[in-house]
Amino acid sequence: MIYLDHAATTPLDKEVLNEMLPYFSETFGNANSQHTYGQRAASAVVKAREEVAECINAKPSEVYFTSGGTEADNWAIKGTALALKEKGKHIITSKIEHSAIYASCKQLESLGFEVTYLDVSSDGFVSPDDLRKAITDKTILVSIMFANNEMGAIQPIKELAKVAHERDVVFHTDAVQAAGALHIDVKDLGVDLMSISGHKFYGPKGIGCLYIRSGLKMERLITGGEQERSKRGGTTNVPAVVGMGKALKKATAEIDKNAEYVSSLRDRFIEKVENRISDIKFNGPRHDRLPNNASFSFRYIEGESILFSLDLKGICASSGSACSSGSLEPSRTLLAIGTPVGLAHGTIRFSFGKHNTVEEVDKTVDILAEEVERLRAMSPLYKKQ
Ligand SMILES: *Cc1c(COP(=O)(O)O)cnc(C)c1O
Repeated sequence: MIYLDHAATTPLDKEVLNEMLPYFSETFGNANSQHTYGQRAASAVVKAREEVAECINAKPSEVYFTSGGTEADNWAIKGTALALKEKGKHIITSKIEHSAIYASCKQLESLGFEVTYLDVSSDGFVSPDDLRKAITDKTILVSIMFANNEMGAIQPIKELAKVAHERDVVFHTDAVQAAGALHIDVKDLGVDLMSISGHKFYGPKGIGCLYIRSGLKMERLITGGEQERSKRGGTTNVPAVVGMGKALKKATAEIDKNAEYVSSLRDRFIEKVENRISDIKFNGPRHDRLPNNASFSFRYIEGESILFSLDLKGICASSGSACSSGSLEPSRTLLAIGTPVGLAHGTIRFSFGKHNTVEEVDKTVDILAEEVERLRAMSPLYKKQ
């Protein structure tokens, strides 16, 4: 099998797994208990919190563990809306956000908030000028993703945060795709809130964190006990927290090495695909792009049919994003960069990882070229050409 869907999830790193294992068995304590079992678990959580904080240049007290990227995104949007609703009810985001942001904004619209969805350029970038023009006296939050999960565009976060702060507006970024792949320094970027998720950098699933700048006003999303400094209730998922700390530390130490390797595979793939297959559209930018992402739309065929054929040959890729696959609606992100609806349906995202090889890239291109040709030969759309 050739796994080319690292933007959906990554395999758990063996070293990370080993670090987690004791917390499923002998060190099973509740991190909130006062006795020795509890304290052992609690000190593991302290260590993991320090590891995460160090990787993003935050203070440990600014790191709040959540059940994943989705919860962190929901919390950032709804927690800010609840905390600042007296100040205003206007939120600004973009047309290419992950569904965790988009659906949170839609829910707030149904509760009387107003949301502006900024356009992006044809290669996928949000413009700081557009943001500046969209801010009003009622704007309380701007949320723009760090790097796009479907077509890889890396946004000018530092500039965008600066524009928001010129008007005293809170700035959030969904950095789920960026964490572990790009260097992140929350202080240098000037963001107030940032979401990350463990399973996108070879850590476990079901764990994420929200960075909340100290002093920022935030309401709770998950109410309950006094965990996470009384901001997020629920018994701490100690093994997952431990795994996330270790995984981010490892990924951060390897960023330069992995980015160079993974982007070399990705570039080889792009070049070969463009040489071998005609009638395709490359989605997203050629620069300021995640190292792992290659997205192509293939004219005259359905992405789902290509994916199915690839899967039969042992290659795992994705149509757009894992979160919206299965839906018949074309991807919001692809439409936002100007991909026509028909072409959007013929889109496949290949996302590479540190365990992939040059041989896998070459084999994938061979099989892809054959399958695209075979499917096009059966397509009534193609025959008419
Ligand atoms: C995967 C992903 C999420 C969701 O994270 P989960 O931990 O899977 O809930 C959010 N945003 C982006 C950009 C993602 O790629």
